[in-house]
Amino acid sequence: MDSGWKIGSEPTEPVGLYIHIPFCQRKCPYCDFNSYAGLEESFHAYTAALREEITRAGAMWGHPTVATIYIGGGTPTVLPVEFLAEILMACRTTFSVAPNAEITCEANPGTVDQRRFKRLRELGISRLSLGIQSLNDAELRFLGRIHDAAGAMAAFEAARAAGFDNINVDLIYGLPGQDPNSWLHTLDQVIALKPEHISLYALTIEEGTPLARWIAEGRFPYPDDDLAADLYELASERLGAAGYRQYEISNWAWHGDVPLPPVANPPLACRHNLIYWRYQPYLGFGAGAHSMIPGRRWWNPRRLDVYLERVASGQLLEEGHEEIDERLGMGEMMMLGLRLIREGVSEERFWRRWGRALDEVFGEELRELCEMGLIERVDGHVRLTYPARLVGNQVFARFLPN
Ligand code: SF4
Repeated sequence: MDSGWKIGSEPTEPVGLYIHIPFCQRKCPYCDFNSYAGLEESFHAYTAALREEITRAGAMWGHPTVATIYIGGGTPTVLPVEFLAEILMACRTTFSVAPNAEITCEANPGTVDQRRFKRLRELGISRLSLGIQSLNDAELRFLGRIHDAAGAMAAFEAARAAGFDNINVDLIYGLPGQDPNSWLHTLDQVIALKPEHISLYALTIEEGTPLARWIAEGRFPYPDDDLAADLYELASERLGAAGYRQYEISNWAWHGDVPLPPVANPPLACRHNLIYWRYQPYLGFGAGAHSMIPGRRWWNPRRLDVYLERVASGQLLEEGHEEIDERLGMGEMMMLGLRLIREGVSEERFWRRWGRALDEVFGEELRELCEMGLIERVDGHVRLTYPARLVGNQVFARFLPN
Protein backbone atom coordinates (compact mmCIF):
# COMPACT_ATOMS: atom_id res chain seq x y z
CA MET A 1 0.00 0.00 0.00
CA ASP A 2 2.92 2.42 -0.46
CA SER A 3 2.01 5.13 -2.95
CA GLY A 4 5.12 7.08 -1.99
CA TRP A 5 2.95 9.61 -0.22
CA LYS A 6 2.35 9.85 3.50
CA ILE A 7 -0.73 11.35 5.06
CA GLY A 8 0.28 14.36 7.10
CA SER A 9 3.64 14.67 5.34
CA GLU A 10 2.47 18.04 4.05
CA PRO A 11 1.54 19.96 7.16
CA THR A 12 -0.92 22.16 5.28
CA GLU A 13 -2.79 19.23 3.78
CA PRO A 14 -5.98 18.59 5.73
CA VAL A 15 -7.07 14.99 6.21
CA GLY A 16 -10.72 14.05 6.59
CA LEU A 17 -12.15 10.96 8.26
CA TYR A 18 -15.44 9.44 7.10
CA ILE A 19 -17.19 6.97 9.40
CA HIS A 20 -20.01 4.90 7.94
CA ILE A 21 -22.90 3.75 10.14
CA PRO A 22 -24.87 1.26 8.01
CA PHE A 23 -28.02 1.15 10.14
CA CYS A 24 -31.46 2.70 9.66
CA GLN A 25 -34.68 2.36 11.56
CA ARG A 26 -36.50 1.52 8.32
CA LYS A 27 -35.26 1.29 4.74
CA CYS A 28 -36.60 4.04 2.45
CA PRO A 29 -37.87 2.63 -0.89
CA TYR A 30 -35.68 4.88 -3.07
CA CYS A 31 -32.43 4.29 -1.19
CA ASP A 32 -29.56 2.12 -2.38
CA PHE A 33 -27.06 3.27 0.24
CA ASN A 34 -25.25 0.64 2.21
CA SER A 35 -27.69 0.63 5.10
CA TYR A 36 -29.93 -1.95 6.77
CA ALA A 37 -32.90 -1.93 9.09
CA GLY A 38 -33.46 -4.35 11.97
CA LEU A 39 -29.83 -5.06 12.83
CA GLU A 40 -29.85 -3.65 16.37
CA GLU A 41 -28.08 -6.77 17.64
CA SER A 42 -25.02 -5.77 15.56
CA PHE A 43 -24.65 -2.25 17.02
CA HIS A 44 -22.21 -3.30 19.70
CA ALA A 45 -20.01 -5.50 17.50
CA TYR A 46 -19.96 -2.86 14.76
CA THR A 47 -18.89 -0.13 17.16
CA ALA A 48 -16.10 -2.35 18.49
CA ALA A 49 -14.99 -3.13 14.91
CA LEU A 50 -14.93 0.56 13.99
CA ARG A 51 -12.79 1.33 17.03
CA GLU A 52 -10.39 -1.41 16.05
CA GLU A 53 -10.21 -0.27 12.42
CA ILE A 54 -9.69 3.38 13.40
CA THR A 55 -6.98 2.48 15.90
CA ARG A 56 -5.12 0.35 13.36
CA ALA A 57 -5.34 3.05 10.70
CA GLY A 58 -4.05 5.75 13.05
CA ALA A 59 -0.96 3.70 13.82
CA MET A 60 -0.46 2.76 10.17
CA TRP A 61 -0.61 6.35 8.91
CA GLY A 62 1.50 7.83 11.70
CA HIS A 63 -1.28 9.56 13.68
CA PRO A 64 -1.76 12.50 11.26
CA THR A 65 -3.66 15.66 12.03
CA VAL A 66 -7.32 15.43 11.16
CA ALA A 67 -9.24 18.54 10.07
CA THR A 68 -12.71 17.06 9.68
CA ILE A 69 -14.71 14.02 10.74
CA TYR A 70 -17.98 13.09 9.05
CA ILE A 71 -20.24 10.44 10.59
CA GLY A 72 -22.64 9.38 7.86
CA GLY A 73 -24.81 6.47 6.88
CA GLY A 74 -27.31 5.07 7.09
CA THR A 75 -28.57 6.88 10.12
CA PRO A 76 -25.81 7.44 12.69
CA THR A 77 -28.36 8.66 15.22
CA VAL A 78 -29.94 5.20 15.53
CA LEU A 79 -26.77 4.19 17.41
CA PRO A 80 -26.87 4.80 21.16
CA VAL A 81 -24.96 8.00 21.96
CA GLU A 82 -22.46 6.02 24.10
CA PHE A 83 -21.45 4.11 20.98
CA LEU A 84 -20.91 7.30 19.00
CA ALA A 85 -18.85 8.56 21.95
CA GLU A 86 -16.65 5.46 21.77
CA ILE A 87 -16.11 5.93 18.03
CA LEU A 88 -15.13 9.57 18.42
CA MET A 89 -12.88 8.70 21.34
CA ALA A 90 -11.05 6.20 19.13
CA CYS A 91 -10.52 8.97 16.54
CA ARG A 92 -9.21 11.36 19.15
CA THR A 93 -6.91 8.81 20.75
CA THR A 94 -5.33 7.57 17.58
CA PHE A 95 -5.38 10.66 15.33
CA SER A 96 -4.43 14.18 16.17
CA VAL A 97 -7.85 15.77 15.80
CA ALA A 98 -7.38 19.53 15.31
CA PRO A 99 -8.93 21.63 18.10
CA ASN A 100 -11.09 23.44 15.54
CA ALA A 101 -11.98 20.29 13.59
CA GLU A 102 -15.36 20.24 11.92
CA ILE A 103 -17.18 17.17 13.24
CA THR A 104 -20.44 16.46 11.41
CA CYS A 105 -23.06 13.87 12.26
CA GLU A 106 -25.96 13.02 9.99
CA ALA A 107 -29.29 12.74 11.81
CA ASN A 108 -32.71 11.54 10.81
CA PRO A 109 -35.47 13.71 12.32
CA GLY A 110 -37.38 10.59 13.41
CA THR A 111 -34.54 9.37 15.64
CA VAL A 112 -33.63 12.37 17.79
CA ASP A 113 -34.93 14.64 20.51
CA GLN A 114 -33.44 17.57 22.38
CA ARG A 115 -31.80 15.35 25.02
CA ARG A 116 -30.01 13.27 22.42
CA PHE A 117 -28.99 16.36 20.48
CA LYS A 118 -27.54 17.82 23.66
CA ARG A 119 -25.49 14.71 24.25
CA LEU A 120 -24.23 14.75 20.66
CA ARG A 121 -23.18 18.36 21.15
CA GLU A 122 -21.37 17.42 24.35
CA LEU A 123 -19.36 14.85 22.38
CA GLY A 124 -17.88 17.73 20.40
CA ILE A 125 -20.04 17.22 17.31
CA SER A 126 -20.01 20.72 15.85
CA ARG A 127 -22.19 20.30 12.78
CA LEU A 128 -25.43 18.48 12.24
CA SER A 129 -26.83 17.32 8.91
CA LEU A 130 -30.58 16.76 9.14
CA GLY A 131 -32.25 14.59 6.51
CA ILE A 132 -35.51 16.54 6.32
CA GLN A 133 -36.04 15.83 2.55
CA SER A 134 -39.43 17.58 2.31
CA LEU A 135 -41.91 19.45 4.45
CA ASN A 136 -44.90 18.04 2.61
CA ASP A 137 -46.44 15.04 4.40
CA ALA A 138 -47.65 13.35 1.20
CA GLU A 139 -44.13 13.60 -0.29
CA LEU A 140 -42.57 12.26 2.91
CA ARG A 141 -44.95 9.29 2.80
CA PHE A 142 -44.06 8.66 -0.85
CA LEU A 143 -40.37 8.69 0.13
CA GLY A 144 -41.14 6.25 2.96
CA ARG A 145 -39.56 8.50 5.58
CA ILE A 146 -40.19 7.80 9.26
CA HIS A 147 -40.88 11.47 10.05
CA ASP A 148 -43.59 13.93 9.04
CA ALA A 149 -43.24 17.67 8.39
CA ALA A 150 -44.11 18.69 11.95
CA GLY A 151 -41.58 16.17 13.30
CA ALA A 152 -38.88 17.54 11.02
CA MET A 153 -39.49 21.13 12.12
CA ALA A 154 -39.52 20.05 15.76
CA ALA A 155 -36.24 18.17 15.30
CA PHE A 156 -34.63 21.27 13.81
CA GLU A 157 -35.80 23.45 16.72
CA ALA A 158 -34.62 20.83 19.20
CA ALA A 159 -31.15 20.81 17.60
CA ARG A 160 -30.97 24.59 17.87
CA ALA A 161 -32.12 24.51 21.48
CA ALA A 162 -29.44 21.90 22.20
CA GLY A 163 -26.77 24.35 21.02
CA PHE A 164 -26.11 23.36 17.40
CA ASP A 165 -25.17 26.54 15.56
CA ASN A 166 -24.13 24.86 12.31
CA ILE A 167 -26.95 22.81 10.81
CA ASN A 168 -27.37 21.48 7.29
CA VAL A 169 -30.76 20.50 5.90
CA ASP A 170 -30.95 17.90 3.12
CA LEU A 171 -33.86 18.20 0.69
CA ILE A 172 -34.94 15.99 -2.23
CA TYR A 173 -36.63 17.37 -5.33
CA GLY A 174 -37.89 16.01 -8.62
CA LEU A 175 -40.38 13.51 -7.19
CA PRO A 176 -42.71 12.11 -9.89
CA GLY A 177 -45.26 14.81 -10.65
CA GLN A 178 -43.98 17.10 -7.88
CA ASP A 179 -45.92 20.35 -7.69
CA PRO A 180 -43.57 23.37 -7.96
CA ASN A 181 -45.70 25.16 -5.36
CA SER A 182 -45.18 22.36 -2.89
CA TRP A 183 -41.42 22.56 -3.53
CA LEU A 184 -41.42 26.32 -2.98
CA HIS A 185 -43.45 25.84 0.20
CA THR A 186 -40.85 23.39 1.52
CA LEU A 187 -38.04 25.78 0.61
CA ASP A 188 -39.74 28.76 2.25
CA GLN A 189 -40.36 26.85 5.44
CA VAL A 190 -36.77 25.62 5.53
CA ILE A 191 -35.44 29.14 4.88
CA ALA A 192 -37.60 30.36 7.78
CA LEU A 193 -35.79 27.90 10.06
CA LYS A 194 -32.50 29.67 9.11
CA PRO A 195 -30.21 26.67 8.71
CA GLU A 196 -26.57 27.52 8.00
CA HIS A 197 -26.42 25.15 5.06
CA ILE A 198 -28.83 23.53 2.58
CA SER A 199 -28.14 20.58 0.26
CA LEU A 200 -30.52 19.74 -2.59
CA TYR A 201 -30.57 16.34 -4.26
CA ALA A 202 -32.57 15.29 -7.30
CA LEU A 203 -34.41 12.03 -6.76
CA THR A 204 -32.64 9.34 -8.75
CA ILE A 205 -34.10 5.95 -9.47
CA GLU A 206 -31.60 3.32 -8.37
CA GLU A 207 -31.80 -0.14 -9.82
CA GLY A 208 -32.96 -2.84 -7.44
CA THR A 209 -34.86 -0.50 -5.11
CA PRO A 210 -38.60 -0.88 -4.41
CA LEU A 211 -39.18 2.51 -6.06
CA ALA A 212 -37.55 1.31 -9.29
CA ARG A 213 -39.88 -1.70 -9.21
CA TRP A 214 -42.98 0.42 -8.59
CA ILE A 215 -42.08 2.63 -11.53
CA ALA A 216 -41.46 -0.40 -13.75
CA GLU A 217 -44.91 -1.70 -12.73
CA GLY A 218 -46.44 1.62 -13.78
CA ARG A 219 -47.53 2.60 -10.27
CA PHE A 220 -45.65 5.92 -10.58
CA PRO A 221 -44.29 7.81 -13.59
CA TYR A 222 -40.54 8.07 -14.08
CA PRO A 223 -39.26 11.38 -12.65
CA ASP A 224 -39.15 14.05 -15.32
CA ASP A 225 -35.68 15.58 -15.90
CA ASP A 226 -37.11 18.84 -17.24
CA LEU A 227 -39.30 19.24 -14.16
CA ALA A 228 -36.27 18.53 -11.94
CA ALA A 229 -34.23 21.18 -13.80
CA ASP A 230 -37.07 23.72 -13.34
CA LEU A 231 -37.31 22.94 -9.62
CA TYR A 232 -33.53 23.32 -9.30
CA GLU A 233 -33.68 26.77 -10.95
CA LEU A 234 -36.58 27.81 -8.72
CA ALA A 235 -34.59 26.75 -5.66
CA SER A 236 -31.49 28.53 -6.89
CA GLU A 237 -33.40 31.81 -7.18
CA ARG A 238 -35.22 31.40 -3.88
CA LEU A 239 -32.12 30.50 -1.88
CA GLY A 240 -30.04 33.24 -3.51
CA ALA A 241 -32.67 35.85 -2.63
CA ALA A 242 -32.65 34.63 0.97
CA GLY A 243 -28.88 35.13 1.43
CA TYR A 244 -27.70 31.59 0.68
CA ARG A 245 -24.64 31.42 -1.59
CA GLN A 246 -24.36 28.47 -3.88
CA TYR A 247 -20.81 27.15 -3.73
CA GLU A 248 -21.27 23.68 -5.18
CA ILE A 249 -23.69 22.20 -7.72
CA SER A 250 -25.94 20.85 -4.94
CA ASN A 251 -24.91 22.97 -1.95
CA TRP A 252 -25.68 26.39 -0.51
CA ALA A 253 -24.35 28.07 2.63
CA TRP A 254 -25.84 31.08 4.35
CA HIS A 255 -23.86 34.32 4.01
CA GLY A 256 -26.47 37.07 4.10
CA ASP A 257 -25.64 40.34 2.34
CA VAL A 258 -22.00 40.36 3.34
CA PRO A 259 -19.71 40.65 0.28
CA LEU A 260 -17.69 37.58 -0.64
CA PRO A 261 -14.60 37.64 -2.91
CA PRO A 262 -15.49 36.13 -6.32
CA VAL A 263 -13.72 32.79 -5.91
CA ALA A 264 -14.16 32.37 -2.13
CA ASN A 265 -16.43 29.74 -0.62
CA PRO A 266 -18.82 31.01 2.03
CA PRO A 267 -17.28 30.33 5.45
CA LEU A 268 -20.19 28.03 6.36
CA ALA A 269 -19.42 25.67 3.46
CA CYS A 270 -18.99 22.05 4.55
CA ARG A 271 -15.27 21.71 5.22
CA HIS A 272 -15.37 17.92 5.04
CA ASN A 273 -16.91 17.86 1.59
CA LEU A 274 -14.44 20.53 0.44
CA ILE A 275 -11.74 17.92 1.07
CA TYR A 276 -13.39 15.62 -1.52
CA TRP A 277 -13.95 18.38 -4.06
CA ARG A 278 -10.40 19.68 -3.71
CA TYR A 279 -9.02 16.18 -4.20
CA GLN A 280 -7.42 16.03 -0.79
CA PRO A 281 -6.87 12.83 1.19
CA TYR A 282 -9.48 11.10 3.29
CA LEU A 283 -9.76 7.85 5.18
CA GLY A 284 -13.06 6.00 5.38
CA PHE A 285 -13.99 3.53 8.11
CA GLY A 286 -16.79 1.00 8.32
CA ALA A 287 -18.63 -1.28 5.91
CA GLY A 288 -18.17 -0.18 2.29
CA ALA A 289 -16.24 2.98 3.20
CA HIS A 290 -13.82 4.38 0.61
CA SER A 291 -10.45 6.04 1.22
CA MET A 292 -8.22 8.05 -1.08
CA ILE A 293 -4.72 9.39 -0.94
CA PRO A 294 -2.97 10.78 -4.01
CA GLY A 295 -2.19 7.83 -6.25
CA ARG A 296 -4.45 5.31 -4.61
CA ARG A 297 -8.09 4.62 -3.75
CA TRP A 298 -9.35 1.61 -1.79
CA TRP A 299 -12.51 0.39 -0.15
CA ASN A 300 -13.80 -1.88 2.59
CA PRO A 301 -16.16 -4.82 2.07
CA ARG A 302 -19.70 -3.57 1.69
CA ARG A 303 -21.34 -6.48 3.48
CA LEU A 304 -21.61 -6.03 7.21
CA ASP A 305 -20.84 -9.67 8.09
CA VAL A 306 -17.73 -9.70 5.91
CA TYR A 307 -16.52 -6.41 7.37
CA LEU A 308 -17.04 -7.65 10.94
CA GLU A 309 -15.33 -10.96 10.25
CA ARG A 310 -12.28 -9.35 8.65
CA VAL A 311 -11.79 -6.91 11.50
CA ALA A 312 -12.24 -9.65 14.10
CA SER A 313 -9.76 -11.99 12.41
CA GLY A 314 -7.18 -9.26 11.86
CA GLN A 315 -7.24 -9.87 8.08
CA LEU A 316 -6.50 -7.15 5.56
CA LEU A 317 -9.72 -5.19 5.45
CA GLU A 318 -9.36 -3.88 1.94
CA GLU A 319 -11.91 -5.33 -0.48
CA GLY A 320 -10.47 -3.66 -3.56
CA HIS A 321 -8.23 -0.85 -4.68
CA GLU A 322 -7.32 1.23 -7.68
CA GLU A 323 -3.98 2.80 -8.44
CA ILE A 324 -4.61 6.27 -9.82
CA ASP A 325 -2.02 7.29 -12.38
CA GLU A 326 -1.10 10.91 -12.80
CA ARG A 327 -3.27 11.50 -15.87
CA LEU A 328 -6.38 10.04 -14.24
CA GLY A 329 -5.65 11.90 -11.00
CA MET A 330 -5.41 15.23 -12.80
CA GLY A 331 -8.69 14.55 -14.62
CA GLU A 332 -10.43 13.58 -11.39
CA MET A 333 -9.16 16.73 -9.72
CA MET A 334 -10.76 18.78 -12.52
CA MET A 335 -14.00 16.82 -12.42
CA LEU A 336 -14.41 17.25 -8.67
CA GLY A 337 -13.08 20.80 -8.45
CA LEU A 338 -15.37 22.09 -11.18
CA ARG A 339 -18.33 21.11 -9.03
CA LEU A 340 -17.33 24.06 -6.84
CA ILE A 341 -19.33 26.84 -8.46
CA ARG A 342 -17.31 29.71 -6.97
CA GLU A 343 -13.85 28.32 -6.31
CA GLY A 344 -13.56 25.88 -9.20
CA VAL A 345 -10.04 24.50 -9.58
CA SER A 346 -7.28 26.66 -8.21
CA GLU A 347 -4.33 26.84 -10.60
CA GLU A 348 -1.99 27.12 -7.66
CA ARG A 349 -3.43 24.06 -5.92
CA PHE A 350 -3.17 22.11 -9.17
CA TRP A 351 0.46 23.11 -9.46
CA ARG A 352 1.19 22.13 -5.87
CA ARG A 353 -0.46 18.73 -6.32
CA TRP A 354 1.11 17.76 -9.65
CA GLY A 355 4.09 20.03 -10.18
CA ARG A 356 2.63 20.97 -13.59
CA ALA A 357 0.69 24.00 -14.78
CA LEU A 358 -2.98 23.56 -15.57
CA ASP A 359 -2.48 25.04 -19.05
CA GLU A 360 0.38 22.71 -19.81
CA VAL A 361 -1.86 19.69 -19.15
CA PHE A 362 -5.32 20.88 -20.22
CA GLY A 363 -4.59 23.96 -22.38
CA GLU A 364 -6.63 22.75 -25.34
CA GLU A 365 -9.67 21.64 -23.32
CA LEU A 366 -9.68 24.90 -21.35
CA ARG A 367 -9.51 27.01 -24.50
CA GLU A 368 -12.36 25.16 -26.20
CA LEU A 369 -14.62 25.13 -23.16
CA CYS A 370 -13.98 28.86 -22.60
CA GLU A 371 -14.93 29.56 -26.23
CA MET A 372 -18.12 27.52 -25.77
CA GLY A 373 -18.99 29.65 -22.74
CA LEU A 374 -18.94 26.64 -20.40
CA ILE A 375 -16.00 27.60 -18.21
CA GLU A 376 -14.41 30.86 -17.17
CA ARG A 377 -11.13 31.92 -15.59
CA VAL A 378 -11.28 34.20 -12.56
CA ASP A 379 -8.41 35.23 -10.27
CA GLY A 380 -6.27 32.15 -10.94
CA HIS A 381 -9.21 29.72 -10.78
CA VAL A 382 -11.03 27.80 -13.50
CA ARG A 383 -14.75 27.28 -12.92
CA LEU A 384 -18.04 26.50 -14.63
CA THR A 385 -19.98 29.47 -15.94
CA TYR A 386 -23.38 29.95 -14.32
CA PRO A 387 -25.46 28.35 -17.12
CA ALA A 388 -23.02 25.41 -17.32
CA ARG A 389 -24.11 24.20 -13.86
CA LEU A 390 -26.86 22.30 -15.66
CA VAL A 391 -24.52 20.52 -18.07
CA GLY A 392 -21.62 19.97 -15.70
CA ASN A 393 -21.24 16.29 -16.64
CA GLN A 394 -20.46 17.18 -20.26
CA VAL A 395 -17.74 19.55 -19.09
CA PHE A 396 -16.23 17.11 -16.56
CA ALA A 397 -16.00 14.38 -19.21
CA ARG A 398 -13.62 16.53 -21.27
CA PHE A 399 -10.91 16.19 -18.62
CA LEU A 400 -11.06 12.46 -18.00
CA PRO A 401 -8.79 10.14 -20.03
CA ASN A 402 -10.63 8.20 -22.76
S1 SF4 B 1 -32.76 7.07 6.20
FE1 SF4 B 1 -31.29 7.63 4.58
S2 SF4 B 1 -29.76 5.97 4.51
FE2 SF4 B 1 -31.56 5.23 5.68
S3 SF4 B 1 -32.78 4.15 4.19
FE3 SF4 B 1 -33.59 6.25 4.29
S4 SF4 B 1 -32.44 7.37 2.69
FE4 SF4 B 1 -31.34 5.44 3.05
